[in-house]
Amino acid sequence: MIRVTVWYENVQESGEFREDLFAGAPEEMKENMKKWLPKSAEEIKKVYPKGVMGTVAEHLEKCPDFQVTSVNMYMPEYGLPDELLNNTDVLIWWAHVAHEVVPDSLVAKIRERVLKGMGFIPLHSAHPSKPMQAILGSSGTLKWREGDYCRVWNLNPTHPIAQGIPESIELPGEEMYGEFFDIPKPDDLVFMNWYRGGEVFRSGCTWTRGYGKIFYFQPGHETAPSYHNPYVLKIIENAVRWAAPVMWRDTLECPNAVESPESKVQG
Ligand code: ZN
Repeated sequence: MIRVTVWYENVQESGEFREDLFAGAPEEMKENMKKWLPKSAEEIKKVYPKGVMGTVAEHLEKCPDFQVTSVNMYMPEYGLPDELLNNTDVLIWWAHVAHEVVPDSLVAKIRERVLKGMGFIPLHSAHPSKPMQAILGSSGTLKWREGDYCRVWNLNPTHPIAQGIPESIELPGEEMYGEFFDIPKPDDLVFMNWYRGGEVFRSGCTWTRGYGKIFYFQPGHETAPSYHNPYVLKIIENAVRWAAPVMWRDTLECPNAVESPESKVQG
């Protein structure tokens, strides 16, 4: 069984402004958020009555080889207590308006767990999230525009993440994310988005860090119906299997401590 944890920010979807989480934010930003959050929650509910990540989790739960745990940032310990993180094989991360709220101590634990072998799948607006920045070492900034027709091209049909996916997928009304996307050069570029506005975007990219595998995937704006598209769901499902650990590193303390057969003979 692959133990999948689906982590969701929940700020917009709940519509609830949590004073404790945003204590350090500027007053003006707090006042603004209090005004627009309830409306945002309403808009999301129209497209995702079961929740944005609720819709993704519902699909993953149908996979007999996955054991899915859904959590969100409004839960104790930001939804990721040590016990859960330490029993997660693949972590899916959807975040948008509250990247700064996630404590650095949690980000460090996620990064360490990835280096030891946990798979990490940041989705859509998680591109500048703290865990993705910490794991990849880049800002994740990109070019942005509101909704546009989007075609997701399958560039790598032999890749495990592209299995069962046609030459291209049409996503009406997805948000435009364009180049330049500040990411390290991907190990594999699996998908590329094209928009009517002419922009292109590296929308499905893989990396490894330590023993962990990472897949970033662009579709998933909270008011676009992309997570109802069966191919988008299939890609996330494939990515979970691909990112599941093949082996775990026991320690990160002494990265050069592996003894060579030669040194054993001499020692
Ligand atoms: Zn978005």
